Amino acid sequence: MHPVGAYARVSEDKALKANAADWREIGEQVAEQFKDMDEVAAELGVTITRRYNDNNTPASNPHITRKDFEQALVDLENGTIRGLLFYHADRLVRQEYDAARINRLFQLNPKYVGRAVAGGTDLSTQEGRSMLTIQATMGGMEVYNTKRRVARKNKGLAERGHMHGAPRPFGWDEDRKTLHATEAEVLRKAVLAIPGGLTVGEVRKQWIDLGYEPTRNKKNTGTQALQHSTVEARLVNPRICGYRTYLPQSERRDSKKPWMPDFVVYKDGKPVMGDWEAIVSPEEWQACVATIEERKTARSEGRAAHTTSAKYLLSGIARCGKCSFPLMSNQYSKGTTSYERYGYRYACLTTLGGCGGVTRVGPPMEELVEEAFLLEVRRSLGMVVKEEDVDETKHDVRLAEIDQEIEEVNERRRAKRISMGTALDMIEELEGERDELNRQRRQLVAAKVRRQNASPSLLEEWKGYTVSQKKARLRESVRAVMVHPAGRGRKFDPSLIELVWVEDEQ
Ligand SMILES: [Zn+2]
Repeated sequence: MHPVGAYARVSEDKALKANAADWREIGEQVAEQFKDMDEVAAELGVTITRRYNDNNTPASNPHITRKDFEQALVDLENGTIRGLLFYHADRLVRQEYDAARINRLFQLNPKYVGRAVAGGTDLSTQEGRSMLTIQATMGGMEVYNTKRRVARKNKGLAERGHMHGAPRPFGWDEDRKTLHATEAEVLRKAVLAIPGGLTVGEVRKQWIDLGYEPTRNKKNTGTQALQHSTVEARLVNPRICGYRTYLPQSERRDSKKPWMPDFVVYKDGKPVMGDWEAIVSPEEWQACVATIEERKTARSEGRAAHTTSAKYLLSGIARCGKCSFPLMSNQYSKGTTSYERYGYRYACLTTLGGCGGVTRVGPPMEELVEEAFLLEVRRSLGMVVKEEDVDETKHDVRLAEIDQEIEEVNERRRAKRISMGTALDMIEELEGERDELNRQRRQLVAAKVRRQNASPSLLEEWKGYTVSQKKARLRESVRAVMVHPAGRGRKFDPSLIELVWVEDEQ
C-alpha cells in the first residue's frame, strides 16, 4: 500500500457567503474535488489515508495560515503520507514560498506521488516542480496556455477536468461510456440535420416536445425549460464524436458557456479519442459545428434576416420583379376572405424601401417553388454524381507542424534559451493558428457532407422537413424567386413567378 494525502481547497465557499440562495451546499466544491481525487488514486494504485480540507481559505494571502496545508507538509516530512493528490496546482499553492516548501519535500523523496486531477502537474519530475513554482510565482495571473499544454500530455486525465462535478452527459448512461438508449439517437438525428438547415432553435423545440429537461442536480425541480445555449452546447460537444476535451480552470470560471470545439485535446496534430462510444463520426460532428459557426457569424454581421426568419419559406428568397427589393411576408387583415383562404402574402413594401408594386398570395407561390425545386432535384439525380474535389485534409500537414513547433518552443524554454513570457506568446500564437485551421477544416467537411446529403433521401424526407430545413436546401439551388407584377385581383398566375437558379461554379 502506498499511503497518500488528498488536499482540497476553495478560496471562498459560495454557500457560506450567500444566505443559502445559491444551490450549492456548504463544502460541496471541496467534496467534488475529493471525489475526483478518489478516482485518480484508484488509477494510480495509491491509497488515500488522510484528507486535508482548507475550505473557504485563500492561498495567495501571506497573512493567512492554511491549517490543513501546514499539516500536510508535516505529514509529508515525517512520512505519514508518501504523496499528495490535489485537484489543480492552483488549489495547492498560490505563493512561491509554499511551492518551494512542497517542492523540497518531493525533491528529497523521489518515490513520493504528487499529482493533480486537472492540469497535469506531476511533482515527482523536475519539470513538474518547476511548473509549480512558475504557476505560484505568477500568482493570480492566468497561465492557462501552459496548463493546457501540460494537460495535453496528461491525456488520461484530460476529460475529467471537463466533467468535474457535472451530471452525466446527455446521450450517455451513468457510466459515461455506453450510449443512452433514446437520447443518443435523438442527439444523432439533430446533429445530422443541422447542416441541412435544421436550426438550434428548432432542435430545442423538438426536444422540449419530447419532454427533455435540463440536466440538473436534484435540488432543481426541473421546471425550467431547456435553454438555447444548453441545446447548442450538446450539439457542438466534441465528445459526441469521441474527441477528448480539456477545459482549463480559467475558462471554467467564466460564466459564459465555453465553445467546446476549441478545447479538443490534440496529440501530434490529431485529436485524442476518448474511451466512450461515439454518437456520430468526426466528419458529421465537424459539419454540424461548422454550420452553427457560420450561422453565428452571419448573425453577428447582420445577415440574420435570411437565416433566422424560419417562419416563411420564401422570405429572403423572393424578390420584387419590378424593383428587385426582397419581398416581405405580410398577413392579410383578419376577417377578409384572403385571410381565411391564404393567411398571408408576400409584398414589396414601400415602408421598407420597396416600390410597392408587387404582392402575391403566400401558400400557392410556395407550393409552386417547392414543386419546381423538387423537379430539378429529380432531374439532377438522373445525372452522374460528381466526384468531390473538396479536400478537407489540406491543412493536416500544417496542423502536425504546429504541434511540433509548440514542442520546440517548450524545449527552448526548458533549455532557458527563451523566457517563459516569450514562450507563452509564441505558443498562444501557434494555438490561435491551429484553432483557425481546424475551423477551416470543419467548413470543408461541412461542404462535403452537405453535397453528399443531396441524395434521393431528400425527396423522401422533404415533407418532414421544417421550414428552415427546406429553406436551407432551397437556397443551395435557388438564388432568388422573382415575382413579376400582375393586375389587381387577377388569379394566381404561375408564369409570373420566375426561379433564378444558382449557377454551378464548378
Ligand atoms: Zn418593388
